[in-house]
Amino acid sequence: MSNSYRVLLYYKYVSIDHAEDFTQEHLEFCKGLGLKGRILIADEGINGTVSGTIEQTDKYMEAMKEDPRFKDMVFKIDEADQHAFKKMHVRYRKEVVTLRLDEDINPNEITGDYLSPKEFYEEMQSPDTVVIDARNDYEYDLGHFKGAIRPDIHSFRELPQWIRENKEKFQNKKVLTYCTGGIRCEKFSGWLKKEGFEDVGQLHGGIVSYGKDPEVKGQLWNGKCYVFDERISVPVNQVEHVVVGKDHFTNEPCERYVNCANPECNKQILCSEENEHFFLRGCTHECRTHPRNRYVEEQNLTEEQVQEKLDKIEEHLSVK
Ligand SMILES: [Zn+2]
Repeated sequence: MSNSYRVLLYYKYVSIDHAEDFTQEHLEFCKGLGLKGRILIADEGINGTVSGTIEQTDKYMEAMKEDPRFKDMVFKIDEADQHAFKKMHVRYRKEVVTLRLDEDINPNEITGDYLSPKEFYEEMQSPDTVVIDARNDYEYDLGHFKGAIRPDIHSFRELPQWIRENKEKFQNKKVLTYCTGGIRCEKFSGWLKKEGFEDVGQLHGGIVSYGKDPEVKGQLWNGKCYVFDERISVPVNQVEHVVVGKDHFTNEPCERYVNCANPECNKQILCSEENEHFFLRGCTHECRTHPRNRYVEEQNLTEEQVQEKLDKIEEHLSVK
């Protein structure tokens, strides 16, 4: 039966006492319900994505709402036709969201203004506004708000450093930030305010809520939204779908992520099925010729076959 499963996405910044003990209890609880997914627990709060049947996810949400700490936690619900994870992990971390900061931010004390999807949609079109993507580079590359700035960083945690180096670009502007579900922006927008930016707004509920808003319908979003489960991406813009992803090898429009076959690289690259086969799923020559290339193992290629492919790649690249 299709759509009898759900994926829940949720977070809450709230002080959790004995968070390590709670982590263990929560793992047992989730396993008991039959959920699968990934939950991070820290002294500062909880951040989770879980999948399960409608009944299992209902039970989970009910139980969480009975806990005073989580009673107003917002669950973003996606329908699904199967689990989005293979296992159930609940892990204790120092923080639910990591930014390289001299001093950590508590979003309950300082954070940017919460903007509804409608408000965000309107304000992002104002000429005095800059929109900063508060995610990792590979998330931006699959989809982002039209005109949003892609910070020149690989990982979200490098964002404060990058802002400091590029501060003059955003001076006297209204700064809007967004991320998948909203959790990263809570901290990042709070940091921006502490850093002296006066007018800072964040997309409340993140891209995922924006795509579900009945009025805005995900407009001005291009591409798809990267998610950290087996679905890899979800649609956002209900009105039009503009592909922004580009094939790693040919720059052709592409929305298909694979991991580089070099186990030591494992980088996510956008590439078509055809190019995956042609390039041995290796992002560079080094990765293609790595002795433990997983594509070569999966396909049971002989040394001669690999060499034949490498020759063809060389020929192809020299023609270009
Ligand atoms: Zn690679």
